[in-house]
Amino acid sequence: MNKNYEAIITNKWIVSNRGKKNVVDPHLPYTWLVEKEHTISGEIEDTAIIFLTNSECPFHCLMCDLWKNTTDKPVPVGAIPDQIELALAKIPKVKHVKLYNSGSFFDEKAIPEADYKRIASLLKDFETVIVESHPKLINEKCIRFKDMLKPELQVAIGLEIVQPEILKLLNKKMTLEDFSNAVNFLTKNEIQSRAFILLRPPFLSESEGIYWAKKSIDFAFDAGVECCTVIPVRAGNGAMELLMKSGNFSLPSIYSLETVLEYGISLHTGRVFADVWDLELFSRCNKCIDQRINRITNMNLNQRIEKGITCTCHSSTYLF
Ligand code: SF4
Ligand SMILES: [Zn+2]
Repeated sequence: MNKNYEAIITNKWIVSNRGKKNVVDPHLPYTWLVEKEHTISGEIEDTAIIFLTNSECPFHCLMCDLWKNTTDKPVPVGAIPDQIELALAKIPKVKHVKLYNSGSFFDEKAIPEADYKRIASLLKDFETVIVESHPKLINEKCIRFKDMLKPELQVAIGLEIVQPEILKLLNKKMTLEDFSNAVNFLTKNEIQSRAFILLRPPFLSESEGIYWAKKSIDFAFDAGVECCTVIPVRAGNGAMELLMKSGNFSLPSIYSLETVLEYGISLHTGRVFADVWDLELFSRCNKCIDQRINRITNMNLNQRIEKGITCTCHSSTYLF
């Protein structure tokens, strides 16, 4: 790794390489969907995801492209509950819901506490509510929200990667201790947590990417999370394209994602998922891509290691 990158990767550099934001309406969620998930009780059940239109996250992580669907200014009090109400009116009745706000649910400038009561009331018929947050924004507000909420609350936190130098370069402004403290705080207050883990962030080779993703799963479970989601790193925000051009970032392969998912599931410590969005990006083989996507989807849903796929491009075998 080129040491100069520590000086180069700043908020200013990341923001200056971005493209334009999409036009969004603070009174409308920018999308919603329903997907199946292996739930904590072991069932495969529908889970709604509402992608809320919210103000831009104050952090500027190197790999993040969530700013694309955000506003420059905080949304008014009432806008987030309005968006939830609108989405729920269109979504079929399901037991679980994820509220993703392109930042941290517990960021006062994103979702004001004045909105919690109405949000909790709108969510009263769900069994589980999952929100996301930066670890430094986990505090007493989480407890106040949990106390208003009838469903179980789970907070998803980006651990990203436990390689300390790379974590620093991701510009997330967090340490491993921040992550552990946040998970500890939530656990003590009977709030579950899940970790987002990156597969092959910049400055790592393919094998290092696999190694550190596995280590990150170990760390997250040791810290006390109930569930891990492994996300293969993509480009798409300007900075990542530049790192790709300079040879400091390459997309991970779908085989590596299979390997890390196999590893996580084999631990039998908690649920482990692979992010399946746009998986075609991570394969150059048209012959086996559909089979591999199916394999990963089935492993996600069943939390069992599926038979490996043999193809001229690669054989999925247990590499751990
Ligand atoms: S904390 Fe999350 S939403 Fe904010 S910039 Fe980082 S990855 Fe993106
Ligand atoms: Zn193939």
